[in-house]
Amino acid sequence: MRAELSPSPVVGQAHTDVLIIGAGPSGTAAASLLHREGWTVRIVEKQQFPRFVIGESLLPHSMDLLERAGLLEAAQARGFMEKRGAVFWREGETCNFDFANQFTAGWNYTYQVPRAEFDLALADAVAARGVEVLYRHAVQAVDFSDPDRVVTQLGTPDGGRRTVTSRFVLDCSGYGRVLPRLLDLELPSDFPIRESLFAHVTGDLRPEGREEGKIWICINAEGAWIWIIPFSDGRTSVGVVAEPSFFQDFPGTPAEQLRAIVQTEPNAAARLAGAEFCWEPKRIRGYACRVKALHGPGFALVGNATEFLDPIFSSGVTLALASAIRAAEVLTRQLRGEAVCWTREYDEHVMQGINAFRSYVVAWYEGVLPNIFFAAGANPNIMRQICSVLAGYVWDRSNPYVMQPERALPLLAKLVKGRQPARP
Ligand code: FAD
Repeated sequence: MRAELSPSPVVGQAHTDVLIIGAGPSGTAAASLLHREGWTVRIVEKQQFPRFVIGESLLPHSMDLLERAGLLEAAQARGFMEKRGAVFWREGETCNFDFANQFTAGWNYTYQVPRAEFDLALADAVAARGVEVLYRHAVQAVDFSDPDRVVTQLGTPDGGRRTVTSRFVLDCSGYGRVLPRLLDLELPSDFPIRESLFAHVTGDLRPEGREEGKIWICINAEGAWIWIIPFSDGRTSVGVVAEPSFFQDFPGTPAEQLRAIVQTEPNAAARLAGAEFCWEPKRIRGYACRVKALHGPGFALVGNATEFLDPIFSSGVTLALASAIRAAEVLTRQLRGEAVCWTREYDEHVMQGINAFRSYVVAWYEGVLPNIFFAAGANPNIMRQICSVLAGYVWDRSNPYVMQPERALPLLAKLVKGRQPARP
């Protein structure tokens, strides 16, 4: 099987046990573990780091995962803003989750991270241990026809071409979706197309104390939602998510659009009244995606190259790290010559996490979750169980709100129906 994007002259060749496509969190976490196990690993990354990517609010479970990958210290050393929970707002209603009140024993905080700095910190950490990271090397073609080695063609920074052979390829290319595109593995998402418009701002009027670093999610009357993610350097990430038709009611430049949309939700409007954009807002549309298979002979898909659902619960980096760690563990055993079952050991684990979040994303856009969040007098034990899902502990099978959310959430919504909304 050979797949190719565009031909050019071959100028170099090298062999490695594992080739990793992409130096985002999934790529560096997988590289860190595989290198620790003694395998030769090379990361090829299309861009020069630091580079911007969206996805800035982590979940507490990502701290366990960074620790397992040997990358927690690299993240901790950067002084990122501590995120201790999530506050949901809808005009006069609010729901304040604090990660200190959780069902699952785990981390009670995590970080809000400008991804240019976070991803560079992880990439520098693995490079310092001896993993080769080739920046400005884009994968153009991959040949799986030889059962003993995968042949990957890279575009080099000088416009030339280089060949790398490896025993296995991990596709951690995120939105690049290299192998899903080359191997025709892409499937359309079940979710409607949604769009996001976002920027970094200064001048955000933040709450104080342990509330400062919490993410705010503000829902307007049309169901569009606005994120507010404060960073430790004084900047704040602000973005809105809605179906594309929503944006048509807001004419003007991206900055004028985003400013006007923030005005549609009073809590966001008050907090961001004096905000100034650091750069013209960026737009991304139709980011939800699925694939036909998570692995095949000689490769596995990891992180966003698998399935991406939706940004509402900030699950992307946590799922990226969890899939990277599991892929590295299964691959290590395979490279040692042990029999492994990727479907059972990898796919099922990854899909457990994705499917748990899928139920919450569906319940969010159907209005079920907002109604639960904003009902008064919610059962504190249940809210602790839901809080653990929002903290990313979606592999904790003892949590009923992990194992059967598609049944449990609508039942809970019926129970709380008619209760007075929670007021700040
Ligand atoms: P990435 O971080 O995308 O890294 C992939 C790397 O592969 C890139 O550096 C890219 O340059 C490289 N690459 C691509 N093509 C090639 C190629 N041909 N050759 C070589 N290299 C290549 N997640 C969260 O956890 N929290 C959030 O708050 C959050 N907010 C989001 C908001 C929006 C609007 C969206 C759309 C997503 C959000 N996400 C969030 C999801 C998050 O962006 C991703 O889940 C996360 O970045 C996935 O990490 P990754 O390592 O899989 O891929």
